[in-house]
Amino acid sequence: MLLGIPRLSYDNIPQSHSAEETVVTIAADPRVVCRVNTGNARLVALTFDDGPDPRFTPRVLDILKHYHIKATFFIVGQNAEKYPYLVRRIAREGHSIQNHTYSHPDLPGCNRKKASEELLKNEAVIKRLSGKSPRYFRPPKGLLDDEIIEISRAKGYRIVLWTVAVENSTLISAEDVAMSTLNRAQPGAILLAHDGRLDRSLTVEALPFIIQGYHQKGYRFVLLEELLNYEAIDR
Ligand SMILES: [Zn+2]
Repeated sequence: MLLGIPRLSYDNIPQSHSAEETVVTIAADPRVVCRVNTGNARLVALTFDDGPDPRFTPRVLDILKHYHIKATFFIVGQNAEKYPYLVRRIAREGHSIQNHTYSHPDLPGCNRKKASEELLKNEAVIKRLSGKSPRYFRPPKGLLDDEIIEISRAKGYRIVLWTVAVENSTLISAEDVAMSTLNRAQPGAILLAHDGRLDRSLTVEALPFIIQGYHQKGYRFVLLEELLNYEAIDR
């Protein structure tokens, strides 16, 4: 079943949160990464938000291991504290762990102090459990405003959204999910999937098809760090 999965994609990220708040026009803002220019290099980064979650994260990790793929996990601090063994496993298996806030609030509705705490509290959890400091930040649901952007930049983060959202509530089979994701394949894309919070069974089921399909098209999956390194290449 695919119930209640938010319809968030590059095309339909909410453009305004409320009448009072200005959510930036994300794709055009140079402070926010949505895709990386890798030239002709067929590289993509697979990212998972909202975990860890014992219902889905172990299965995702098993699939990634089977295909020898490294992915990037934007984890939620509260979940990490509940399931520290999953965070350790993600780190041990060579994946990247990044910051998706401590409790997954809609940040444009938070005050400055609360927004800072959300970032720093999760950062401390990630450091403690993985031994590494996160460098990238993805706000829950992609919701941003100027203040959130400046707060996270001041704390040394790069804000990373996505190019292709894997989940979409109109897709009801794993094959459809995989096909929809494959049809939007492009070099330098950042793929957004989820391994927690809601029912992600369909994502897990679609994952092998997505991986095989990208491989057949000549794509290689890399960590977000590696994809972002391509920004520095002069071409
Ligand atoms: Zn999220």
